[in-house]
Amino acid sequence: MPAPEQSPNAIEISGLTKTYAAAGQAPAKQALKGLDLAIPAGSIFGLLGPNGAGKSTTINILAGLVRKSSGKVRIWGFDQDVNPRQSRAAIGVMPQELNIDPFLTPRASLEVQAGLYGVPKRERWTDELLELVGLTEQAESYSRHLSGGMKRRLLLAKALVHRPQILVLDEPTAGVDIQLREMLWRNVRRLNDQGMTIILTTHYLEEAEEMCDRIAIIDHGQLILCEDTAALLGRADSKTLVVDTGEARALPALPEGVRAERREDGRLALSYAPSRIPADGLIDALRAAGLPIRDVAVEAPDLEDVFVQLTSRQAPQPG
Ligand code: ADP
Ligand code: MG
Repeated sequence: MPAPEQSPNAIEISGLTKTYAAAGQAPAKQALKGLDLAIPAGSIFGLLGPNGAGKSTTINILAGLVRKSSGKVRIWGFDQDVNPRQSRAAIGVMPQELNIDPFLTPRASLEVQAGLYGVPKRERWTDELLELVGLTEQAESYSRHLSGGMKRRLLLAKALVHRPQILVLDEPTAGVDIQLREMLWRNVRRLNDQGMTIILTTHYLEEAEEMCDRIAIIDHGQLILCEDTAALLGRADSKTLVVDTGEARALPALPEGVRAERREDGRLALSYAPSRIPADGLIDALRAAGLPIRDVAVEAPDLEDVFVQLTSRQAPQPG
């Protein structure tokens, strides 16, 4: 699957706004305030942001499940307003909500979905899909009897029935067990290796750091930044000095702005901003306090540090 014609981007969003109308007691809510975003073809792209930032709204607009208020959306080169059918065919979405027909079996669900997308019978790959997501044994059970994890597997398979160029996963691993998480990421990597563009949102920043080539952070319906993951991590003005102080457990007086914590293994972890506090200042403080320094290591910042710096908020909690 090469890039779409005339563009290296699988998705281009410009000036996207969405206002949810007032309903009952709830006032109108502007969820997106002019979002611009380009998602390179072939990438694994992370869309991150605190709860309520507008991630699902963006994804649901891409999926054609929510109607935008204004702005332009191009999917695989097709303008969503001009070529709704082609733009829809290029994308498969695994939504955050477990919206599955309880009275269909997984096999029937996939067949119905394929029908909706106009996939001819001979081009369907229902059995392979069931195998891919590990639902072969449950293929003929009613979906209402599936566990939450199995429903998620089925949603992944449903997103793939029409072999889209772009796969979007909205919080695919929220509340799932390790086995399912591994199955998901294995499949995501394999599909990406075959050329599929992957877009995902996740609450687990470690996961985004590990999986994504490029990351956008949005907050309050606006883009905060969009960068390659490596460049993003390089921006954080944050490091952690980890010191083995032997048997000594006292916390020394430290320069302002340093966060100190005893790790479970007994080592002392000091987080600091290298631009303001040089590491030797920290070591001097430990010496002055009479703490032995058996060993030191410096840990690079992770995505959580960057996220907290940029959104001035705690990283989102899975939920
Ligand atoms: P995220 O996925 O980043 O957590 P959402 O896109 O779900 O954020 O929500 C963005 C904002 O829009 C939130 O303030 C949310 O309450 C609001 N919102 C989302 N869906 C609806 C809806 N169907 N009706 C009204 N408000 C909504
Ligand atoms: Mg969401």
